[in-house]
Amino acid sequence: MLKSFKTEINPTLEQKIKINKTIGTCRFVYNFYIAHNKKVYETEKKFISGMDFQKWLNNTYLKENPEFLWIKEVSSKSVKQSIMNADKAFKRFFKHQSAFPKFKKKGKSDVKMYFVKNNPKDCFCERHRINIPTLGWVRLKEKGYIPTTKQGYVIKSGIVSQKAGRYYVSVLIDISETEKPQLNNFGLGIDLGIKNFAVVSNGIIKKNINKTARLKKLEKQLKREQRCLSRKYEDLKKRNKIKKGDATRQNIQRQVLKVQNLHHRIDNIRTDYINKIIAEIVKIKPSYITIEDLNVSGMMKNKHLSKAVASQKFYEFRKKLEAKCKGLGIELRVVDRWYPSSKLCHKCGCIKKDLKLSDRKYICECGYNSDRDFNAALNLRDALTYKIA
Ligand SMILES: [Zn+2]
Repeated sequence: MLKSFKTEINPTLEQKIKINKTIGTCRFVYNFYIAHNKKVYETEKKFISGMDFQKWLNNTYLKENPEFLWIKEVSSKSVKQSIMNADKAFKRFFKHQSAFPKFKKKGKSDVKMYFVKNNPKDCFCERHRINIPTLGWVRLKEKGYIPTTKQGYVIKSGIVSQKAGRYYVSVLIDISETEKPQLNNFGLGIDLGIKNFAVVSNGIIKKNINKTARLKKLEKQLKREQRCLSRKYEDLKKRNKIKKGDATRQNIQRQVLKVQNLHHRIDNIRTDYINKIIAEIVKIKPSYITIEDLNVSGMMKNKHLSKAVASQKFYEFRKKLEAKCKGLGIELRVVDRWYPSSKLCHKCGCIKKDLKLSDRKYICECGYNSDRDFNAALNLRDALTYKIA
């Protein structure tokens, strides 16, 4: 089964130039093919297929017109793909499935750089970077999202695209049944929460990343820049009554970018964190994982919880964990949110009704004494009623 993964990349300046040049050349050749076909049709009443056009371009046209040899300076695979895309557009038109192929406009149309795995070293993907033919190693912004080559996944082909100054890679990976690993004979329970992000029944504890010094510092910085931005807006309002100043507007635009970049950076750190946690948990290869069905929308309505919940990306965690489990054949069990995972004593099974949110320890009359969240993780692991995600 082929699955596509799209994520933002962080190319070097040199790579950006190469990507832009490839995309520009692909757009040119796409348009050239359409124009050439129009001309041939008007004079000879026949259609030139993409394959024939490519042969004509390489063997005849470029030899007679060496000033266009720059077409050959970019990935030939990508150029060929853009011709074949136009070929497809023509064929859809002939079958009355779509309108006559349109010329692609610079900056407006969707033109992409196509690549394909030709030899074993192509398309190698690690946690933080991917090897793209003709570009070399390109840094990934979201680490660990694309399944890595080390994990046994093979990238067949992909495309690089550009939008609003950001660059993206989208790859096709074969996620076959045969690649599923041998699973261990035990399951894991994960208790998700605000104090700690995750407490796992095998003892792993993942703290809330928002409580780390690094993120606290960035959040503080973000607040400062946001305050600075609103001051600048206020300033503009006052000054507008006197005269319009372009310098002030530019100044504001710069500040908006500053705030956006900080948001982006913080978001990347959070996403990276949950990806890492998921990778670490599934690496254990449990036969099943049990989590609680978090009432995310309910929590979002709670003023005190909503920010903490949104910033911890519980929903994204659940979705990504589900996808990873599916790929590896791990059963993801979800227990009802009314299941008393926290209030249940893991040893004797009695329910402590008066357990408060502030009680960090679970102490039972039977002598059992445990960390509250760890007790919950064990109860989740051993839950008997659940749904399979
Ligand atoms: Zn007990």
